[in-house]
Amino acid sequence: MLTGLCYICGKAGILHTCRICGKNVCGEHFDFSTGLCMNCKARL
Ligand SMILES: [Zn+2]
Ligand SMILES: [Zn+2]
Repeated sequence: MLTGLCYICGKAGILHTCRICGKNVCGEHFDFSTGLCMNCKARL
């Protein structure tokens, strides 16, 4: 687990790493079922 700033919204908090782009995003911008950030999920 890691903390820092979300790549999408810039909020500080616990981050998750996207499987495609490798960016770190907060729980609001991470899709747990696919392991992708919202940017990458939108492109699927
Ligand atoms: Zn966010
Ligand atoms: Zn991504």
